[in-house]
Amino acid sequence: MNNSLNILIYILFILAINRMSATRTAYKGNILAIIGMSIALIWGLINLKSEYQIYAAISILLGGTVGIIGSRRTTISQLPQMVALLNGFGGLASGLIGISETINIPYLNFLQIFIIFTGCLTFSGSVAGFFKLSGLIKINDTETIRSTSIIILLLSIISSFYAHNGETEYIIGFALLSALLGFCFILPIGGADMPIIISILNSLSGWCTTLVGLSLQNNLLIIVGTLIGASGSILTYIMTKAMNRHLLKVLFTPITTNQSSNYQHTEQDIHKGTPQDAAFLMENAHKVIIVPGFGMAASGAQQELSNMANILIKKYKVDVKFGIHPVAGRMPGHMNVLLAEADISPELIFGINEINPEFKTADVVYVIGANDTINPLAKTQKDSTIYQMPILEVEQTKRILIVKRSLAPGYAGLDNPLFYEKKTLMLLGDGKKITKEIVTQLENDSN
Ligand code: NDP
Repeated sequence: MNNSLNILIYILFILAINRMSATRTAYKGNILAIIGMSIALIWGLINLKSEYQIYAAISILLGGTVGIIGSRRTTISQLPQMVALLNGFGGLASGLIGISETINIPYLNFLQIFIIFTGCLTFSGSVAGFFKLSGLIKINDTETIRSTSIIILLLSIISSFYAHNGETEYIIGFALLSALLGFCFILPIGGADMPIIISILNSLSGWCTTLVGLSLQNNLLIIVGTLIGASGSILTYIMTKAMNRHLLKVLFTPITTNQSSNYQHTEQDIHKGTPQDAAFLMENAHKVIIVPGFGMAASGAQQELSNMANILIKKYKVDVKFGIHPVAGRMPGHMNVLLAEADISPELIFGINEINPEFKTADVVYVIGANDTINPLAKTQKDSTIYQMPILEVEQTKRILIVKRSLAPGYAGLDNPLFYEKKTLMLLGDGKKITKEIVTQLENDSN
């Protein structure tokens, strides 16, 4: 029974990860993961010694309640912080298991030392990531923190030899140094790179779980940990590739997010448009490509966008497509999740490689709250943080409509020359409000 139940749980987790790889099936993936995790928790609880069952049940209830309340309160733009905390708790759990397994044993092996190190480092690094992403900590003097990290690293290596002898004080000292190292290592990393760091920490928390599984000879932990570790590593690879950042540069070269811009423009340099202009251009187009970015998420315009696409398709027979950049928004898949929430058919949604050749044949591109991911400076400005990041080539379309509230730069702190082009109409205002006005105009117009 034990083995067959374990195999059932493995299968559920593997199927869950598989389903989560596509927007259409992600919901089912989550359900499968919930079922798998519930069976694992209940089965684990039943198999515990009776004196521990009550503590485990209280912990599960407490953790579950905090998780439900926390996730319900988290807005979509706070998701990266939330993920950072979740990774951190994964690391903390592994670190604590590592410590509890080693207290009062004569000698620690390399695996046990490594579990404590990675678990504590993952936890504190994730907490640092949480503070940075929430804007609660801002670092100016990155060099001093980096030098301090090197000293702490050396101290942790030295203390690991003492901890190896199994004395409790040394193990705790080593754990605290590892935690301090994680915090100091993550603090100086540039804001634009933080989501990559979150992904690395996510992967690390998975590998910690695998190590705990190896140490406790628990196959379930090995499999679950490896799934998390491997998917986190793949995600890290996808993100660094999409942002054209080398992993070592992310870890060791700080970048600033508020770069001084070469463009010192004012609103007089742009061509302002109205929702009525936008509706006119789109209803008379053959092909419209919609490009959402972080501002779409911030304004919560997904439902209006869905309405706009539907009217254009059904009433005006326009060929409508959505182009999604892999790092649009603040997390990979951020846009896809929002569009799926608004029931936009996945058949209308295309990734960067599929949609880029289409821009030159489109009549209008409707950019809503996207900035860095469409910024042509990525091709030319060598000292910019987005240099060589592949972009959505909206500049090739005949007419460009850009919805945002001001001429403020995006996440990378760069001005965008597209705003000032002759063929661009800037619709200044909140993404949801403007799109809603366009929808009203499209409804009122006759085709
Ligand atoms: P950007 O951050 O470049 O731009 C978003 C734009 O949205 C801003 O210029 C802002 O302009 C506008 N905006 C904000 N609120 C609103 C609103 N309510 N209504 C209308 N517009 C609004 O977003 P992109 O999606 O183009 O690019 C994502 C950035 O995040 C990239 O630099 C990427 O590297 C980075 N990043 C993303 C990761 C991911 O995994 N997705 C990971 C790591 C980094 P204004 O204030 O004028 O309205």
